[in-house]
Amino acid sequence: MHTKTLAELSLGLHKKTYSSVELTQFFLNRIDQHQALNSYITVTPELALAQAKAADQRLADGTADLLTGIPIAQKDIFCTQGVMTTCGSKMLANFNAPYNATVVDKFNLAGAVMLGKLNMDEFAMGSSNETSYFGAVKNPWNINSVPGGSSGGSAAAVSARLAVCATGTDTGGSIRQPAALCGITGLKPTYGRVSRYGMIAYASSLDQGGPMTRSAEDAAIMLQTMAGFDEKDSTSVDVPVPDYRAGLNKSLVGLKIGLPKEFFGEGLDENVAATLAAAIAEYRKLGAEVIDISMPNLKLAIPAYYVIAPAECSANLSRFDGVRYGYRCESPVDLTDLYTRSRGEGFGKEVKRRILMGTYALSTGYYDAYYLKAQKIRRLISEDFKAALATVDVIMGPVTPSTAFGIGEKMDDPIAMYLSDIYTIAINLAGLPAMSIPAGFVANMPVGLQLIGDYFAEVRLLNIAHQYQQVTDWHNFIPTGFE
Ligand code: GLN
Repeated sequence: MHTKTLAELSLGLHKKTYSSVELTQFFLNRIDQHQALNSYITVTPELALAQAKAADQRLADGTADLLTGIPIAQKDIFCTQGVMTTCGSKMLANFNAPYNATVVDKFNLAGAVMLGKLNMDEFAMGSSNETSYFGAVKNPWNINSVPGGSSGGSAAAVSARLAVCATGTDTGGSIRQPAALCGITGLKPTYGRVSRYGMIAYASSLDQGGPMTRSAEDAAIMLQTMAGFDEKDSTSVDVPVPDYRAGLNKSLVGLKIGLPKEFFGEGLDENVAATLAAAIAEYRKLGAEVIDISMPNLKLAIPAYYVIAPAECSANLSRFDGVRYGYRCESPVDLTDLYTRSRGEGFGKEVKRRILMGTYALSTGYYDAYYLKAQKIRRLISEDFKAALATVDVIMGPVTPSTAFGIGEKMDDPIAMYLSDIYTIAINLAGLPAMSIPAGFVANMPVGLQLIGDYFAEVRLLNIAHQYQQVTDWHNFIPTGFE
């Protein structure tokens, strides 16, 4: 059953080939067998089986949705009432949220089954899942390699078939980069498309939730449930939600693909480049036209992001003070001691680094030099994309400079770690939608191709991804040991 896509499993459930209880039990057993991956922080077998039973009732009544009875898992950044929400941090290791994230409510309404909560970098800060308080996640393609981050638990679980599909969040690449490194499909929607209510904030102007799946068709099904205006999120955008599966089969003849020269220069592994060239050649065969473009400000994305994201995180994380939520130090002597020790003991090293950087960038005298400057660069980057997307339908490029790196390899070198998002971060600064799709392998490790579209062009991106998946098989490969 684990070799099937969400779309196929949904069909099986509707035809009563198997029940949701059977499917759920099957995935719970797989999770149990493959604990060594460390992809889950919390597994919820009782809840899952109860939801599966209710789903079977809906399937019998004829009131089922495409997602009814499908075992999914949530990144542990989405608040779940009654189930621990840790955000990968000691700070929230005992946190029981008093409400559900809108995304969680939407899946519940659709009748999806939640298997549990997935491991992630602490507060979504990281590119390798090694900053998690709950330990590193292993890449199913090579257990000595990282799965990427911060949605590394989500990517590893979907890749190893420990969930049919999963949610992720992407502030600077955290859906696309792990999707690429684990050989699955990931979609970061347009900023504002998916509600952030109940999704623990890292950098509010960049964070966006999205689907992590086997195929583009599955991503379309998941996004259909996740997307939509939410009055509880002031940055949620009130535009109609289209039918994401309706456009999947549209022909790509005449599609204009832009390849920015800045994406294919120094720093990109030559084997990854060759794999991407083969993928682009496949698109040519599908009738697409390839156009060389240039976006001169892309090189400024990493420095601008590492001012803006830490600045926002320093404000967002000020709420964790030992009083209101989560971890509180033992026997504080006074209020200052309570604050300093609770935060000092509750946060990990990378989170502290970001809070320090952000506080510095926002302080008097430095605000203009760093934060304001970074905001101006953000505008320039958005304008580069706007100009490019006025001449082409989609921009393509790498997701990551290389395939998955070794566990421990970059932990002592934050700059090297930050550079692993060099091709994804600019898209968050611009707020655009983008996907990562499996495009081949280098030395048995997966390579992702990135597709970047215009605002709210998710239907088109899914169509472009789906057409490629009709003529290639990369998204169907299963890592050895998980077949
Ligand atoms: N790796 C980037 C960071 O650490 C992006 C993380 C993310 O998208 N959540 O900020």
